[in-house]
Amino acid sequence: MTQLFGLGLSGIRAALAPYRVPAYRARQIAAWMYQKGAGSFDVMTDLSKALRAVLSQSLAIGRPHVKDRLISADGRTQKFLLGLADGIAVETVLMRQPYGNSVCVSTQAGCNMGCAFCASTLKGLSRNLTSGEILAQAIVINDMLREADEGKVDTVVIMGSGEPLMNYDNVLEFIHLMHEEYTLGMSYRSITLSTSGIVEGMRRLAEEGIPLSLSVSLHAPNQSLRERIMPIARRYPLADVIAAAKHYAAVTKRRLTYEYILIDGVTDGEEQMRELADLLHGQLASVNLIPINPVAQRGFLRPSPERIARFERYLARRRIAVTVRREMGADIQAACGQLRNKHL
Ligand code: SF4
Repeated sequence: MTQLFGLGLSGIRAALAPYRVPAYRARQIAAWMYQKGAGSFDVMTDLSKALRAVLSQSLAIGRPHVKDRLISADGRTQKFLLGLADGIAVETVLMRQPYGNSVCVSTQAGCNMGCAFCASTLKGLSRNLTSGEILAQAIVINDMLREADEGKVDTVVIMGSGEPLMNYDNVLEFIHLMHEEYTLGMSYRSITLSTSGIVEGMRRLAEEGIPLSLSVSLHAPNQSLRERIMPIARRYPLADVIAAAKHYAAVTKRRLTYEYILIDGVTDGEEQMRELADLLHGQLASVNLIPINPVAQRGFLRPSPERIARFERYLARRRIAVTVRREMGADIQAACGQLRNKHL
């Protein structure tokens, strides 16, 4: 059986080629799969019964199924565990933000970047996700929102488990698929990709000619502290990451976001706030402070509200655009750094 779900128009056309059906049928099938929640050919009523029966013999839609779903106490965050064809499961998070419905997608099952504050890396990397498996995460949630009459997916953040730039081709194809009018027709500006600082990937992305929002996980203001909490920093030195980020901003004219995790007594001291302000001085960039979310195995503590506010105030005084990320979904392990693709 050939699975169609996750294919773009050209892939669907290629799969339909043996049946000699008109080209416009591919677009109809795509719309059924990605916009109308179809799980089989049976419901595609604008295809003749005879054609549906023929296609069903060797083609299948193959939608991933929702294995589990958790809803946070305040109802604003939902975490989905999606089962993939080979039995692997991935987590996706829906966040109801003031500006709309935002979905955080995973790009790898697990992760081998080894960030010291993150649950997604605890069991290493299982495999890269295909573009269709990443797309499925957004489509499944969009279907659910549509059926509940709760709008649609408005923005996507590529910040779930995995390092997206280590799965570059599939992630880029996913981004292009999201933009297609037969899927969600999402503008590139509504998609944010977050990287731990894969320098060659950042430079390649800058040349793609798409106004994607880029977010760089900095998390420490100097090389030695960064190496301590992000092992990938040994391969990509801080100076190279900053240079690649500046290059991205210059080429795309897009403001960058640096993510900076606040860990009590580790990254939130006076010395670090000064170093961070010096490092980012004069850049077209903003800083998103992320007070660490608890991960049982990691042992880092969240700073007090006073220490968080002090860090934020200092950056603002140094004229750096700064926000503190609102904690969402920590009670269902759906907040940043808590995804682990396990049964809920
Ligand atoms: S923070 Fe991102 S890059 Fe780092 S281990 Fe977690 S999923 Fe991987």
